[in-house]
Amino acid sequence: MKKHAIIPIFIPHRGCPNDCVFCNQRKITARTDDVTPDDARQIIDTWLSTLRPVPVRNDSGESNSSTVEVAFYGGSFTGLSIVEQSSFLSVADEYKQKRLIDKIHLSTRPDYIDEDILENLLHYHVDTIELGVQSFDDEVLRLSNRGHTADDVFEAVRLIKKYGFELGIQLMIGLPGDSLESCIMSARKTVELGPSLARLYPTIVLDETELYEMYVRDEYVPLSREEAVLRTKEMYKILDDAGITIMRVGLKSTDIIGEGGAINGGTYHPAFRQLVEGEIAKERIEPLLRDFLLSNEVSKSENKHQKVSVYSSKRWFSDMIGHHACNRRYFTKEYPSLDIAFFVDESLPDGVFRVSSRDS
Ligand code: SF4
Repeated sequence: MKKHAIIPIFIPHRGCPNDCVFCNQRKITARTDDVTPDDARQIIDTWLSTLRPVPVRNDSGESNSSTVEVAFYGGSFTGLSIVEQSSFLSVADEYKQKRLIDKIHLSTRPDYIDEDILENLLHYHVDTIELGVQSFDDEVLRLSNRGHTADDVFEAVRLIKKYGFELGIQLMIGLPGDSLESCIMSARKTVELGPSLARLYPTIVLDETELYEMYVRDEYVPLSREEAVLRTKEMYKILDDAGITIMRVGLKSTDIIGEGGAINGGTYHPAFRQLVEGEIAKERIEPLLRDFLLSNEVSKSENKHQKVSVYSSKRWFSDMIGHHACNRRYFTKEYPSLDIAFFVDESLPDGVFRVSSRDS
């Protein structure tokens, strides 16, 4: 069983009268029907039947299993009327009170947070509120027709923290008007706000969106793959260094391929996270190899074939090798004097690498 299982309940476009240029919520969630609280109950039951047949915790509250979370995604949950929010939340809370799930999670907009809403979420034992912030650059928010400013985010976070909810922040890369600098600024502001989790989404041009129209009118140019990976990498490092859990990097194919497909240019890649982590691995391993050459008095191109081992944690092993072994190929080409092999060292933290000689 997975250590952290999320039961996703998508509520497409419900509760959202906004029109962000990049959003076609019905496509993103690959659904067109409205989800009802009864549907939510069915979804939870179906997932629980595959996740675990017995309650999560014993009477003393000890867990003998993994964390299971019900998450209301899509749309803007707290934009629903309080009555509608309560009808969904009461279902999730019922499972939480029976100890069949551990946590309740929802995503919403920064300007749909106020004290009344938070009181209600508290009443239904919601744990985590994830804010779709997208950018801290007001011009980017304006050009993306988000309908809120960075100040709205600061105020929402202040309230969320006052009520003691766990905070998540979603950021997008490559929105109209955004740049490497504004992406880095957004990542730094995120760190200042201290969320426990974050998601990074490169902008995808979806059918039937204003962004698609802008793309057709040559008013918006999607980021190249290279630029999207570069910006995301810089943000990832800032968030990761601050100890923020990066739950997702890039959309899943099932998020965007609904009826009729949805990609028109843009920056979708099924292994986007690996592209980003692979670049980070390359960037961190290269100075170690240079130091190795220096300390062994071997030049980069000398025909010496000195044996070198490069180590990573288990989780980062495939990132170290790179997508389709691109890092392996890169290092082999750039360092012909080295005979490089890659290994796992379980003692290494994720994203940390070690290089040593295999001759000794
Ligand atoms: S607030 Fe969210 S659901 Fe509403 S239009 Fe914008 S991205 Fe779509």
